[in-house]
Amino acid sequence: MKNNAFRGLIVGLACVGIAAAALVGCGTTDSAGTAAYTPGTYTAVGQGNFGDVEVSVTFSATKIVSITVGEHGETPGLSDPALEGIPAAIVKGQTLAVDTVSGATHSSEAVLSAVADCVKQAGGDVEALKAKKGAKAAKGARIEKSADVVIVGGGGAGLAAAVSAAQSGAKVVLIEKAAALGGNTIRSGGVQNAVDPARQKAVKMTAPLIGDLKSILDAKEADFGEFAPVVATLKGQIRDYLASGSDVLFDSVELHMYHSYIGGKRVDLKGQEIHGELALVRTLAEGSPKAIEWLESLGLKFNDGIGTVLGALWPRTHSNTKPVGTGYVTVLSETAAKLGVEIMLETKAEELLVEKGRVVGVKATKADGAPVVLRASKGVVMATGGFGANPEMRAKYNTYWPSMPLSMPTTNTADATGDGIVMGEKAGAKLVGMGFIQLMPSSHPVSGALSGGLWGSAETQVFVNKQGKRFVNEYAERDVLASAALKQTDGIFYIICDQDSAGNPQPGSKNGWGDDVDTLIRNHDVYKADTLAGLEEQLGMPAGSLQAEIAKYNGYIASGTDPDFGKRNFGAPLVKPPFYATIRSPSVHHTMGGLAIDASARVLDASGKAIPGFYAAGEVTGGIHAGNRLGGNAIADIMVFGRIAGASAASSK
Ligand code: ADP
Repeated sequence: MKNNAFRGLIVGLACVGIAAAALVGCGTTDSAGTAAYTPGTYTAVGQGNFGDVEVSVTFSATKIVSITVGEHGETPGLSDPALEGIPAAIVKGQTLAVDTVSGATHSSEAVLSAVADCVKQAGGDVEALKAKKGAKAAKGARIEKSADVVIVGGGGAGLAAAVSAAQSGAKVVLIEKAAALGGNTIRSGGVQNAVDPARQKAVKMTAPLIGDLKSILDAKEADFGEFAPVVATLKGQIRDYLASGSDVLFDSVELHMYHSYIGGKRVDLKGQEIHGELALVRTLAEGSPKAIEWLESLGLKFNDGIGTVLGALWPRTHSNTKPVGTGYVTVLSETAAKLGVEIMLETKAEELLVEKGRVVGVKATKADGAPVVLRASKGVVMATGGFGANPEMRAKYNTYWPSMPLSMPTTNTADATGDGIVMGEKAGAKLVGMGFIQLMPSSHPVSGALSGGLWGSAETQVFVNKQGKRFVNEYAERDVLASAALKQTDGIFYIICDQDSAGNPQPGSKNGWGDDVDTLIRNHDVYKADTLAGLEEQLGMPAGSLQAEIAKYNGYIASGTDPDFGKRNFGAPLVKPPFYATIRSPSVHHTMGGLAIDASARVLDASGKAIPGFYAAGEVTGGIHAGNRLGGNAIADIMVFGRIAGASAASSK
């Protein structure tokens, strides 16, 4: 089934007001200067992210009268600005010279090319329409507003801050530079790590996980610096747990902190060591279960099943009932609207207003060029996300990866350009951990996107290279996986699944991103075969290689040990046909460094003092994830610290 969310969405003639004078101004023209279409409705398809986007265009003899977007597989929420905005702009300007919407480029291009096809079918002049500029919007008038709290950025952190500040009684204005809310949050897998005794009760303990716990008992506390007391408490918890004989999964705030610490402790190419800051990591681990309860109270429904997203290190990853990150953005933006938060889209913050050392507002610009001045009596929350989509800034700061070409693709929205870090630094903020950038090991090799494949929880995943050989412990941290993947031929690998670990797809099924699985197979994003031999042949691997590797791996599952790469947590053996292979390669995913904050989300200056009136949350900040963020900890971060930042700003004097 295709997504019919936009079936029937019709963008009508916007030139009505000038219809009498519009024979030339509102239509393409023939050589005599009059518009020239064969009236009627024409249909065509354009290639979106996930297959065909169907578009119907109705023409009069002189005008593009209306455009209807029909069936498509694009992600709801993410593609809205393109599927609604592009048709509106075409009809309004009677032009095909319409800019694509940032963050929804492929959806935009799909609409533009389908409309061009319809113009051709109607006998219109496509090239003339592409050359014809629509009426240039006049620069808007200067806007000045005052609020208690001004929030910059409408991804997960900004929206959580907006709701929380409004719940604390503040008058809130949120500005977002894109045409839609969501940022990287809406594009993420949308999963959240949280200690959750109720849901985790359904997960059984396994021998390898017990082995992991026992290895913590052997760890020397002195090796953990300021985290030593956390490890001491954790050891006590583990001893009690082992003595209890329980067969239910063990977890605790301290174990989540321990994983965040060891997952984030890294040394860069210059020999500089970094690890998560104790107070921030504790706030994250303690706050995430509460953030889930908060989101539930706002209407987001979490699934009961607990898994391990890639690089999470332990089964504590929660998903919700909505596709990818859309659930967080929908629930929070609807709540913000109910609470009276004013949201200004296409409004780009340029500079913080600082008076006598206090941040008192933001200078911004609307897409039409109108200057905006927003004054904040209590505080400004910076929530502009990271700089994964800013190759020059990546190159400037990267001290972790020996090579990070400017051309390396990213999972990020094009708006993740590090604006808040630049503005914050200018206002006196200290930056921390800027050299550490996360590569998402399993991304689409061309687009860099997270979506477009089939796989299950991390323990069930099997990575093989072009030679059909495993090359890494698939349950390891993301930097370990990405580094290993980059060393394989062409930096390419395949995630191998059987019917069960692929999530039992059927004809017409969609994966967790809402991608149509049949389309993925048609486009060779995913390969499918009834036997491993067939898969091997399709992938051009040496005969017998994949078959032998999976047989060996299934043996490791049976014995519970992986002598090749030390994987300790496994799914079921891969035996149920058909088999699937998803082609993947690393791309830039998360920038761990950013503005220094304390546990109240106050932005700190070089001397560690809070800058009055200045708060920050989410990927724009540094200090929590240090050298490598755990999979599933980003959503935990933005919900926990977004919420804290909003409340802190609202209660500021
Ligand atoms: P986080 O996960 O930290 O919330 P996201 O990437 O989800 O980060 O959201 C950050 C949001 O901030 C994006 O929607 C992005 O478009 C927006 N943004 C980035 N720079 C600016 C800016 N200069 N002014 C306003 N919004 C911005």
